[in-house]
Amino acid sequence: MSSKRENGASRPRVLILGGGFAGVGAAQKLEHADADVVLVDKHDYHTFQPLLYQLATGLLEQTAVGHSLRDLLHDQENTVVHQDVVTGIDLAARQVRFEQLAPVTYDYLVLGIGAEVNFFGTEGAAEHAFPMYTLVDAERLKDHVLRLWEAADRDPSLVEDGALNVVVVGGGPTGVETAGALAELYRADFAKDYRGIEPEQARIVLVEAGPDIFSMFKPNLREYTREALEKRDVELMTGVAVASVAPTRVTLKTGDVLNAHTLVWGAGLQGNQLVQSLGIQLERGNRIGVGPELNLESHPEVYAVGDIAAITDQKTGQVLPQLGSVALQSGHHAGETIARRIAGKKTKPFAYKDKGTMATIGRGAAVVQMLGGKTMKGFKAQVAWGTVHLALLPTNEDRAKAVVDWAGEGFTHQRVGRITVETGEREPG
Ligand SMILES: Cc1cc2nc3c(=O)[nH]c(=O)nc-3n(C[C@H](O)[C@H](O)[C@H](O)COP(=O)(O)OP(=O)(O)OC[C@H]3O[C@@H](n4cnc5c(N)ncnc54)[C@H](O)[C@@H]3O)c2cc1C
Repeated sequence: MSSKRENGASRPRVLILGGGFAGVGAAQKLEHADADVVLVDKHDYHTFQPLLYQLATGLLEQTAVGHSLRDLLHDQENTVVHQDVVTGIDLAARQVRFEQLAPVTYDYLVLGIGAEVNFFGTEGAAEHAFPMYTLVDAERLKDHVLRLWEAADRDPSLVEDGALNVVVVGGGPTGVETAGALAELYRADFAKDYRGIEPEQARIVLVEAGPDIFSMFKPNLREYTREALEKRDVELMTGVAVASVAPTRVTLKTGDVLNAHTLVWGAGLQGNQLVQSLGIQLERGNRIGVGPELNLESHPEVYAVGDIAAITDQKTGQVLPQLGSVALQSGHHAGETIARRIAGKKTKPFAYKDKGTMATIGRGAAVVQMLGGKTMKGFKAQVAWGTVHLALLPTNEDRAKAVVDWAGEGFTHQRVGRITVETGEREPG
């Protein structure tokens, strides 16, 4: 039910779907709007995806990467949070259906349900690969790797079969960051944890179908990254695609077979499948094309933000990449714009403030490329990366937790989260 204004009229309802950077960003900017704000996410937490690989490799704890959505928004009196799965969106009726909640109608809708993994039809990948897009994915990978090392410790013949080998697919930031972090976990921590296993018996292979890794970066940063990975004993295979994945073997399109009981998939994204039911024409990668103010031309009360949206940068004319800073800024813009419309004020187009493209490869090794083309690498770049990512974390408490864990690892090279906890069946992510 909408609440009433003093004159008896109903307050408009703003329905926000998704509690990622985009959805939470929109909700925060509606705090003082004369509206009822409803945010629904299938999880009861906000996921900080850029740090998932640090959770998967034991560097950060779960609560530094996932934050309660209710906690983030409980001070906003006009906002309620529900945990439920969106099952259908009827743009004509201005109504959203859920798995369990009764259908909710809206005056304004913010679509922030993000992207999901794309296996590009690779045989066996959906069943056997470990994607790296959700908190569940990161926990699953960590538990899987720890269990394999314990098993190999009990039965060394498993090492020969490739139990400790990892194939990481995708030479973009997700693949490179995960491969680099796994290498540090293997070569620094596990080398001491499992003294009976020679570190070189465990291979980490990064496979990229394109001609080079980090295609979005300039050649000097690519070369630096290749060297940084090789220094960490990560084997690079470029120009090679994966044909199929089985539980203990990875077959490449060349016909070669790699013995590996773990394949991490960091190769592709597509917009949330749900958008296919909207009945609108979608852009490349299943994304929703939006106008300069981030709403749909055919339904100006509907805003699409973050990874689900194809947002054209007003300055460059290019579609903006699927990044946390794009999601947060576009969410803020949609929230602000709706608040202004409700207040009868003028609105303006979205203008993205580019903080640069960046990625870490490991301790003291990172790359940054600024909009004007300026580049940074090494420790300086890692500090810049840390600053930008700390700013994206939702609360000061989360920032403090991340800084303590990063500093601890920096001094002691210890990854604190190297334990498995039996929890029984997991829900799919
Ligand atoms: C491994 C990894 C590393 C990354 N590293 C970086 C980085 O270093 N820097 C950077 O800027 N960006 C990085 N990104 C990209 C960045 O994390 C995303 O661009 C950003 O999270 C997108 O935010 P979003 O709010 O659009 O979507 P999401 O964060 O995906 O949030 C979508 C929300 O919608 C919810 N949802 C989905 N479907 C439903 C449904 N049917 N019903 C209800 N709720 C639903 C989900 O639970 C989720 O909470 C990385 C991404 C990944 C996966």
